[in-house]
Amino acid sequence: MIFGGIEAGGTKWVCAVGTGPDDLRETVTFPTTTPDETISRAAEFFRRNGSPAAIGVGCFGPIDVRRSSPTWGHITTTPKPGWVNTDVAPALGKALDLPVAFDTDVNAAALGEQRWGAAIGLETFCYITVGTGIGGGGVVSGRLMHGLLHPEFGHMRIPHDRTLDPFDGACPYHADCFEGLASGEAIRRRWGRRGEELEDDTAWQLEAEYLALGLVNVICTISPRRIIVGGSVMKQPALLPLVHRRVQKLMAGYLDAPELTDAIDEYIVAPALGDRAGVLGALELASRELSSR
Ligand code: ZN
Repeated sequence: MIFGGIEAGGTKWVCAVGTGPDDLRETVTFPTTTPDETISRAAEFFRRNGSPAAIGVGCFGPIDVRRSSPTWGHITTTPKPGWVNTDVAPALGKALDLPVAFDTDVNAAALGEQRWGAAIGLETFCYITVGTGIGGGGVVSGRLMHGLLHPEFGHMRIPHDRTLDPFDGACPYHADCFEGLASGEAIRRRWGRRGEELEDDTAWQLEAEYLALGLVNVICTISPRRIIVGGSVMKQPALLPLVHRRVQKLMAGYLDAPELTDAIDEYIVAPALGDRAGVLGALELASRELSSR
């Protein structure tokens, strides 16, 4: 039995069929255009490739993951033009006549890392992505994090010293929330350049400070056994070690755990599955959907 997975991002969609990292039979990546065109393209890919038994979707959001809701499987209030209140999972299910599992992109990536990557055997851990936006999710006591809706780590409030950083923030809803200050989009607007083109040490020190402030809040509220941090901004090699040092400093020795002192480089880590965590996690979502029926 094979499964279909979609990492449905705001910039691109990655679709795959297979059963895991060593058995990805077909993959395709295409840009996120209009909802109709993008969803049709995904459906067409699965029709042509091996009749998967179920599809998993890890989707950008905010999304509706409440099973009993009439708008389950929809994207809700996204700032992405044309995608507000978009039917994703029910539309795919109808087009393909298959069971569809639906969750956030970060919960899917967390599941991928738990099944095959950096969170094997962990019952409580977080997955955070720092790219164009910031998202976070994960697993608590063995279950994917859901609640009222789903976590939105990116929209936490963190301290903003306007003397040090006069940039107003990039979030269309809250200006200087965590995402508004530390996302790839915030970097681009603050410095007038993309992160990849930024060599300025001050810029990365500031970025590390904001990321550490966000991570310390996550550590203090969820007590994760590990935090996996992916996304395009984290590809700057100097960044993760800076974040480690800042988290240690901000925690100030308050929690007595080697993970927060000597072993911090094994505590806040890059995804073991790299950029494939999302789409692989979507395959795992599909597999679980089928076994829960
Ligand atoms: Zn925000």
